Amino acid sequence: MVAEYAAALLKEWGLDTHVEIFEPLLPYPTSRLLEMTAPVRFRAQLNEPAIPEDLNTSEAGQLPTFNAFSASGDVTAPLIYVNFGIPEDYETLRQLGLDVRGKIVIARYGRAWRGVKPKLAEENGAVGCLIYSDPREDGYFRDNVYPKGPMRPPQGVQRGSVLDMAVYPGDPLTPGWPSLSGEKRLARAEAVTLPKIPVMPISYADAKPMLDALAGPVAPDTWRGALPITYHVGPGPAVVHLKLDFDWTSKPVRDVVAVIPGAIYKDQWIMYGNHHDAWADGASDPASGASALLETARTLAEIRRQGWQPKRTVVLALWDGEEFGLMGSTEWVEKHEEELERGAAVYINSDSNGRGAFGAGGSHTLETFVREILREIPDPANGRALVEVPRGRRTAPNGDFRLSALGAGSDYVAFLDHAGIASLNFGFGGADSGVYHSNYDTLAWYQRFSDGEFIYGKALSQLTVTALLRLADAPVLPFEFNTLSRTIHRYVEEIQKSAGQVDFRDVNAQLARLSASSRGYEEELSAAMKRPMSEERLTKLNQMLAKAEGELLLPDGLPHREWYRHQIYAPGRYTGYGAKTIPAVREAVEAQRWEEANQQARRLALAVKAMADHVEEAIRLLRE
Ligand SMILES: [Zn+2]
Repeated sequence: MVAEYAAALLKEWGLDTHVEIFEPLLPYPTSRLLEMTAPVRFRAQLNEPAIPEDLNTSEAGQLPTFNAFSASGDVTAPLIYVNFGIPEDYETLRQLGLDVRGKIVIARYGRAWRGVKPKLAEENGAVGCLIYSDPREDGYFRDNVYPKGPMRPPQGVQRGSVLDMAVYPGDPLTPGWPSLSGEKRLARAEAVTLPKIPVMPISYADAKPMLDALAGPVAPDTWRGALPITYHVGPGPAVVHLKLDFDWTSKPVRDVVAVIPGAIYKDQWIMYGNHHDAWADGASDPASGASALLETARTLAEIRRQGWQPKRTVVLALWDGEEFGLMGSTEWVEKHEEELERGAAVYINSDSNGRGAFGAGGSHTLETFVREILREIPDPANGRALVEVPRGRRTAPNGDFRLSALGAGSDYVAFLDHAGIASLNFGFGGADSGVYHSNYDTLAWYQRFSDGEFIYGKALSQLTVTALLRLADAPVLPFEFNTLSRTIHRYVEEIQKSAGQVDFRDVNAQLARLSASSRGYEEELSAAMKRPMSEERLTKLNQMLAKAEGELLLPDGLPHREWYRHQIYAPGRYTGYGAKTIPAVREAVEAQRWEEANQQARRLALAVKAMADHVEEAIRLLRE
């Protein structure tokens, strides 16, 4: 098994390694049937055939195509096309005088986290949901399909979880506590993150005859994909029969954790994680990132053999069960909450990595730190420092590198949004790919169409080694608070543009205070670093800095989803992978609940005040 293989490697390199096992609910399909019963009969193939040129696509042992956490069910109903199945599409349906009640919806992949599609279908009264990959998004409309090109072949299917992760990720039966054997569990009916209707991902080869059999209004321009058909909305006359069954059992997931103990600040953890589980071969997702993590581990082990011992403890983790809904990392954070609260300073994450531009997201207290590292690491494409060639949308108007806000894409969620640990996510990518979560994400595909020479993998490893070494050995943890203040101010301005009713005066006053104290802190720090500082004071200062991000947590969590506690970052409830910044205020504004919006703005002001107090305390400590 992959976990044992990785653990053996880490041990062989001399790292203190163990495997931690959790038992979340991991339903696998026991039967799958999709057929059109009218106006013509058609039975969907639901299978990704082998491609002769690529031996690793062989069908033997292939995981069936399914959406994890779909409900079991047996439904027959008229089909209706809902475009991407996002809120604005339901608005368009209303304008057309149509609704999805009692019907099976067919949505195309894209625009939003896939779990949003069945959630909205269910909320609007649909009895089933199909999600297909339209060639417009990642098929022949974009480029040649595999094996001729990198895009999705006709029978390619995007598997994936449809857990409602915006409420809480991880085991749906153990929200907020670890799913260890013997721990209590919710009944399945109590788990609000589980969809209640059957959901099934399909290929465009399977979707085409069903879409082609729809009548009703011709789909609006923006709803049309790239299949050679006239897109109609329906409903019907296509009638679809969807029957799905799952085993509904909990199964072990295995996190592999290696620890390099710190010489001075043993309790202070610098962490780096990447998941090791995959839907099929997973050359890109997650092996490209996981192998960079292993290379980082090997490098650290090697310099340790040469005598290095970090000041702080370095923890490296290969998470399991990420694909089902961040299982391994979430349950691990829930198990280790007290230790993490005591001393975890930074969590770094990576996931799929490939040819393309560098991207980074995370806590804005680390933006300056990341920018400095990017000066040191060359872009594999052209040898220029990464800081000079950042991805366009992640830069400030003046061209400076900026961290994006983290949403819900990968294993950092529990660290940042639940435990309040400053977090970063690094990765290269962006080259066209149509094999995501399919049987065609193989080594042969990766070598031909992504990072064939593994130069982006090497760069990711250089980057994480540099970050880990600096974070582990810095006399003072490199947090900087002025960027945070300015960034929160920018988010506040975005909200204010559409919602002048919300009173942000207190927030802005505290942000100004935070900026002023940040500058004071920087001055005090550079003066203090010129004279010797006692170990005791340094320890105190570092502990204080590690806990700063935690000031941004709401102890009782966000409204209606208390597992999420961060006031600045959270995944959107009906959007994509990107973050909804200042989520509590923004969601109240969207619902036009002004009183609640103002109340949440006051809570934000208190959090910023606590952060500013925190920084001022650090200044006092430096002055002592
Ligand atoms: Zn992944």
